[in-house]
Amino acid sequence: MTAVAMGNILGDWPPGARGVFIRTFAVPGQGSDPGGREEEMSQELFAQRRSIEQVEEGTELAPRFDEQGLIPAVTTDFATGELMMVGYMNAAALRLTIETGQAHYFSRSRQALWRKGETSGLVQHVRELLIDDDQDCVWLRVEIDGGISCHVGYRSCFYRRIPVGSAHAGETPVLEFTMRDKAFEFEEMYPGQPNPTKL
Ligand SMILES: [Zn+2]
Repeated sequence: MTAVAMGNILGDWPPGARGVFIRTFAVPGQGSDPGGREEEMSQELFAQRRSIEQVEEGTELAPRFDEQGLIPAVTTDFATGELMMVGYMNAAALRLTIETGQAHYFSRSRQALWRKGETSGLVQHVRELLIDDDQDCVWLRVEIDGGISCHVGYRSCFYRRIPVGSAHAGETPVLEFTMRDKAFEFEEMYPGQPNPTKL
């Protein structure tokens, strides 16, 4: 059983933040269902998973959402192929992405559906949406308004390298920045908002 509340951002989010979010919260002890009724609506869009042949070789969209109701989504830049981010979608986020052509995700830290760029304007326009063999992961190839994807201000979320190989064995890895130029600071882009990175 899941309670669903629709409306302006409450709780974690300050007054004045733009956008409508669907906040969901599972009843303790009765499992998590991040989508609630929104999820039920979305399920009508997706085929039941009936056979391996159907899932792997068929033309029906039959995504597998995990026990949290989520499917991982990898997002690359349409022009360059650069990996921009990895996120999650619930059924509603996938449905809205399909219907609008703009990337929607489900934030696990905020437990909220969100349209990428809702606040920042860094909207992701989906040029191609792919699903993998067993339909438990989607790949978004996007063009991004402003070209920046990461809330930290970097072009991609993947802006640090972990050194690998025997030369580094037994040492605490020292992360190497692969990009230095930040387009913005979080506080400037999202004034008054809590950082979505949770410790
Ligand atoms: Zn990021």
